[in-house]
Amino acid sequence: MSAPDWPRHAGPAAPTLADLDARVTECRACPRLVEWREKVAREKRAAFRDWEYWGRPVPGLGPPDARLLVVGLAPAAHGGNRTGRIFTGDHSGDVLYAAMHAVGLTNQPTAVHRDDGLRLIGTRITAPVKCAPPENKPTPTERDTCRPWLDAEIELVRRSLRAVVVLGGFGWQALLPVLADHGWTIPRPRPRFGHGAHVELASVRPGGSLHLFGSYHVSQQNTFTGKLTPAMLEEVLAAAARAARL
Ligand code: SF4
Repeated sequence: MSAPDWPRHAGPAAPTLADLDARVTECRACPRLVEWREKVAREKRAAFRDWEYWGRPVPGLGPPDARLLVVGLAPAAHGGNRTGRIFTGDHSGDVLYAAMHAVGLTNQPTAVHRDDGLRLIGTRITAPVKCAPPENKPTPTERDTCRPWLDAEIELVRRSLRAVVVLGGFGWQALLPVLADHGWTIPRPRPRFGHGAHVELASVRPGGSLHLFGSYHVSQQNTFTGKLTPAMLEEVLAAAARAARL
């Protein structure tokens, strides 16, 4: 497999989600992010010096017939960028997977490494930017450069998708235009991001409407300060799971 490069990776025509997930790990389209993810992987955090860091794009996780999609921001430098699996190996993931397990969306409450047996139930998790960015802040150009991967991913799960939980305003802003391009109607004025936000988007393509939910991101900044508590997150995830009929 040759490495996709911008603009060659635009509209990656992967026939299956598994194929897409494999292809995205080869992407080197964002020079700043490639340099950062590889630098972090070389230098490592002292606590993880025995790890062989992943240091590549981190694909989404979950089955192709998912009814619920959880959308974050980007992999963490010493989380997904270390373990190679989204939200795995850091505090944000600890909070997210514990809440998902509490409402029946995973088979276990923890995510430590790629082969720990974690299974998502009717749910896929992804991010609009698939490489770890410095200070968790991708640029608008990097977000837009990564969009073809998200576009292709949404298209491959669109048929079964009934609900989305977006973690944070960055993901919300990145996802709305993608949903519009895939046949869901975005009301005007555009729905605003907020914790507990909920709007049902009608579909102009065959298939059902889509329930869009907002939640504060599971960042340490939010969870350590109590801005986002486990109960708050579980409430949004449970509502989305009900909307998705999971
Ligand atoms: S952020 Fe997306 S487009 Fe940019 S290098 Fe990573 S996978 Fe490729």
